[in-house]
Amino acid sequence: SDHVVIVGAGHAAGQAAASLRQEGYEGAITMIGNEPYIPYQRPPLSKKFLAGEIGIDRVYFKPPEFYEKENVTVKLGTRVTEIDRNAKTVHTDKGETLTYSKLLLTTGSRARELNLPGFDLEGVFYLRNVGDVEGIQSYFNKGGKCVIVGGGYIGLEVAAVAAKHGIDVTVLEMAPMVMARVVDPIVSRFYERVHREEGVKIVTGAAVSGFEGKNGQLTKVTCADGTAHEADFVVVGVGILPNVELAVEANLKVENGIAVDECCRTSDPDIYAAGDCTNHPNPLLGERLRLESVHNALEQAKTAAAAICGKEKPYAQIPWFWSDQYDLKLQIVGLSAGYDQAVVRGNPDEGRSFAVFYLKEGRLIAVDAINRAPEFMMSKQLIAKGVSIPAEKLRDESINMKEMAA
Ligand code: FAD
Repeated sequence: SDHVVIVGAGHAAGQAAASLRQEGYEGAITMIGNEPYIPYQRPPLSKKFLAGEIGIDRVYFKPPEFYEKENVTVKLGTRVTEIDRNAKTVHTDKGETLTYSKLLLTTGSRARELNLPGFDLEGVFYLRNVGDVEGIQSYFNKGGKCVIVGGGYIGLEVAAVAAKHGIDVTVLEMAPMVMARVVDPIVSRFYERVHREEGVKIVTGAAVSGFEGKNGQLTKVTCADGTAHEADFVVVGVGILPNVELAVEANLKVENGIAVDECCRTSDPDIYAAGDCTNHPNPLLGERLRLESVHNALEQAKTAAAAICGKEKPYAQIPWFWSDQYDLKLQIVGLSAGYDQAVVRGNPDEGRSFAVFYLKEGRLIAVDAINRAPEFMMSKQLIAKGVSIPAEKLRDESINMKEMAA
């Protein structure tokens, strides 16, 4: 009989369960997640939830009643340990075996760990789940010093929240600039300025070499050049790794993520995958991608659910992402890699609102919009259409964004 088993209970899993019912699927659905919570949204973990402004009930993807109402069996605190493709079963660490007609892998990703000396001291944190937040918050209340390893989105968002809690914050970034992997130096320098204005110290070119402590408790972070930074706690945000081990062991095709097609099908016709764990084709950009974003998790989940129901709804969208730091809402649409011109609209040296348009051979390929919702919204459409817009026009604030394409 029909039984869709969903491995993982994160963003993609929650959306897939909802979409399966919306697409008219009436069979059984079982969702298996190793965390103790029903699907919840991760972005607030480095923003409002970390700040203590909202509780867990506001972070849930769907309210607890949803699963009962939609007849979705949820097994929490349970890890899927093996997929048997011949028998079409999965095994769990609770000793259960479940038979599936279709399997959906939404195993997400995990924080990349720094296995440096002292990594197991008390006070060294990563940030991926609610448990991590609880650990970090226990130090917020004590005040003191925090070192953030990694000046990417997560590190900088944590820095902003910690600074607002009166913590003395130092960000150590290995690259010459923060967020160097994803934004133009104009944007990096802007964020460095704002963080400094908010009292956060930023050290670039800093290669962390280890953690030192006393009686098992962290006291300092050391760098390769011999410098040391005192710290009561440290939050490491140095990227993520997709959870592909189950797929690898089941001999599914895996290439920097579980390889899927535009309908989220893996190399096994009865197994689908969606979200952070996948590597998928983007027909609009003409390349394969592994993305780490809510938009990607939600849209792939919708596509996978449709495909499981026998409907082709290929996933073909321009990626987008956001980051909240202080009063700054950064919205990014498109992928800027390979741009040959960055055009600034507004003044990054003063105030807190501007946009950077990335052009490649005259064509708009990506935008970073800081407190600029119209620029973000319109660019989504313009990039999808693949339009060319002269730099002078993008720069000219007397031209409304709505008139840009004309
Ligand atoms: P996940 O949310 O990782 O869920 C996968 C789940 O599967 C996890 O609970 C995992 O433990 C579980 N699992 C894995 N293997 C097994 C197994 N074998 N058995 C059972 N369960 C298993 N994105 C944005 O777009 N904007 C943001 O501002 C933003 N901020 C973020 C801030 C933080 C602190 C973090 C951590 C992420 C942020 N992201 C943001 C990224 C976004 O949260 C992810 O892209 C999204 O959660 C991916 O959803 P997913 O369902 O693919 O994976």
